[in-house]
Amino acid sequence: MDAGERLALASVAVNILVTGLKYFLGVFSGSLALLADAVHSSADVISSASIWAGIKLSRRKTKGFPYGLYKVENLAALITSGLILLAGYEIVRSVLWASERVRAARLPYAIFGVIAVGLILLSFSRYELKRARRLNSPSLEADAQHLTTDLLSSCIILLGLAGTYFQVKLPLDRVAALVMVVLIVRVGVKIAVDAIRVLLDASLDFKTLSTIRDIILELPQVSEINALTGRNSGRFKFIEADLALRVRELEKAHFVVNQIENRIKTRVPHVDHILIHYEPMRRETRVIALPVTEDRMRLSEHFGEAPYFLLLTLKKGNGTLLEESWLFNPFQMEEKGKGIKVSEWLVSLGIDGIIIPKNYEHKGPYYVFSDNGVEMRQTDGRSLSEIKESLIAAPETGSRSKGTTYG
Ligand SMILES: [Zn+2]
Repeated sequence: MDAGERLALASVAVNILVTGLKYFLGVFSGSLALLADAVHSSADVISSASIWAGIKLSRRKTKGFPYGLYKVENLAALITSGLILLAGYEIVRSVLWASERVRAARLPYAIFGVIAVGLILLSFSRYELKRARRLNSPSLEADAQHLTTDLLSSCIILLGLAGTYFQVKLPLDRVAALVMVVLIVRVGVKIAVDAIRVLLDASLDFKTLSTIRDIILELPQVSEINALTGRNSGRFKFIEADLALRVRELEKAHFVVNQIENRIKTRVPHVDHILIHYEPMRRETRVIALPVTEDRMRLSEHFGEAPYFLLLTLKKGNGTLLEESWLFNPFQMEEKGKGIKVSEWLVSLGIDGIIIPKNYEHKGPYYVFSDNGVEMRQTDGRSLSEIKESLIAAPETGSRSKGTTYG
């Protein structure tokens, strides 16, 4: 049994105890207000029992309800708010219209009895409210608020009994009742509004959303958050994010997304489900690399031995040449594996494409480029100016795929 269920059962027990005490005190003292309040409390036993059933039911996930029945708790809270408002109405009725035929000799005992009931309600409702907030349970929080309103009605009855005992002429109980009914209506309406908001999928609060936003942006691979939304369901939160990632491989993207999910789940309490859609970062430019000969006029036949690389930055779409930069090949003189070293170096510079001479076959660089999503284009031409012209005419081919992961 989880903490929520235990707390709900404790509330059922407290309500049974309070009902019994009120009934006994009502019969013993002859106070109609106390008897009416005992009837009210017996309805509360049913209300807290239905909250317990709601919590039990809400944890089930079935094929018919794949998102869980968490909102059963919000429904229970909504029903409880109705009972709270009813309790307010009953206070008004018992104070304004009940005629007392109390036995004066027994009044002091009844007054002490009502004080005892009040103390039980006070201590348990405080305890339940604190625990319910820690558990993030809307129905238990509503139950705790309900017990607080019951405490208020005990106070009214106490005032009434004391007024009768001391034969006060002022309608103390009526004035107090009016103030308390206002408080009760406020609590009842707030619980109802909160429950209805969750039932209608209102957004998570601003503070939680901005905490989640900060957690996502901590990862350097995230370039942008396109959209971030979240909602409550019972005591749980559901989050959806649409991200642009600075990652080209699907596996790396998946890894980043898993990291985001774990960080959110460890740092934001009560998150049930996170859905992240991701796509590659949208860039305005494309960088194409070319291996070039010593005279800087022609495409080099040998990739690893090329003395220079020309990096062209082209604007996406129309292919306007924005920047040209010449780089000296730092691995030209290496003994072994210069092809791989050069290709890894170019990838680290963030190139999007590479132009290689036709019939050039070298497995190492080929794998490095394809693993990192660098487009390889083979060409017949060897003249640098011709290749540049054709590139500007057709700056890109194909597009990258998008990915979605569930967690
Ligand atoms: Zn009640």
